Amino acid sequence: MRRPAPRAAARRALSALSALSALSALSALSALSAPLPARAQPAAPAAEPLAARVARLLRETPLTDGHNDLPWQLRKRARNQLNALNIGESTAPLKMHTDLARLKEGGVGAQFWSVYVPAGLGPSEALQATLEQIDVVKRLARRFPEHLTLATTAAEARAAHRAGRVASLIGMEGGHSTAHSLGALRQLYALGARYMTLTHTKTHLWADSATDAPRHGGLSPFGEEVVREMNRLGMVVDLSHVSPDAMRDALRVSRAPVLFTHSGARAVCDHPRNVPDDVLDALKRNGGVVMVVFLPGYLRCGAGGAPGEGGATLDDVVRHIDHIKARVGVAHVGLGGDYDGMDEAPHGLEDVSKYPALLAALLARGYSEEEVRAVMGENALRVLEGAEAAARALAGEEPADVPPLHWVEPAP
Ligand SMILES: [Zn+2]
Repeated sequence: MRRPAPRAAARRALSALSALSALSALSALSALSAPLPARAQPAAPAAEPLAARVARLLRETPLTDGHNDLPWQLRKRARNQLNALNIGESTAPLKMHTDLARLKEGGVGAQFWSVYVPAGLGPSEALQATLEQIDVVKRLARRFPEHLTLATTAAEARAAHRAGRVASLIGMEGGHSTAHSLGALRQLYALGARYMTLTHTKTHLWADSATDAPRHGGLSPFGEEVVREMNRLGMVVDLSHVSPDAMRDALRVSRAPVLFTHSGARAVCDHPRNVPDDVLDALKRNGGVVMVVFLPGYLRCGAGGAPGEGGATLDDVVRHIDHIKARVGVAHVGLGGDYDGMDEAPHGLEDVSKYPALLAALLARGYSEEEVRAVMGENALRVLEGAEAAARALAGEEPADVPPLHWVEPAP
């Protein structure tokens, strides 16, 4: 999620044509890879057209995306009234990236829906708004049971995918959503939240943001307590948006693998939202995953390494995936589009229907099917399973007996 900025009308027109261009890109790719004439024997896997290979991979492995801001669009545009913004119809005319038809076209198998609320809200307001965003995700699943199934574990996500539904997982974006209360954190877990990004765009009472002045040198002692409590609960620690020192602190403290649900590689684009190489090295030791973001400003930097806006393409996403694979291995890469949290998506990945084009590009680049499976979902689900395993291992621990940092009433 990022604040909106004005964009050129021409790019929006391109966006509206997205569904068509995904299909034509795939047809072109499959035409290139399928020159063989028909024959009596079933085709060997090597001769299988690229589009058919992608379709098979999407059936076999849940394409798992780390971050989609549809719930925020529902709040911002329709005050969470599902009748006022119907994702059963096309949202393309609204310049949105997500609706049920395009999720299906994109082969999305599992989606972490972000229950983002603005970092500028006061603690009580942020907690209430987060509860309302969790509620709207649950109401969506209830309204569209043929399309969406709530999931709180990796096994539930796989089962939903096998049943032909989009597994709907809940991720919180920013520690402000807890009102800085471990009691609230525990109850948000009970409501289904399965990751929490430690900050959004602002440094808060216990963690430094990548895009604000640092106050804690990373995580404060309370912040480290939050990480340990998330491990105990089985909630994945998400390090997108946090400062590099907060990333390093969390990786040192965490007893479970972590995610970056929507970030890129800083060596490819030197933006503070991206992950430095030394953190990638620590992430490898942790077993975690960077789910590569599609937001153009984080993908392609301007001359001299300055963050750049616009002009990003599917190939830029591949460059970030390539770098993380080269640096720490393909087991540590995933996908975190940030659809409906950005205004303009990369050319070739204009909306949620375009994931097949990305998978086709990886196969065409020489990624094995096992590697593509890892990137498209297996790695992220492994992290969720890792968080679940840590929680089982820590089941004997007592809940952290720590008062909220923000206590609205005077102490007795
Ligand atoms: Zn974000």
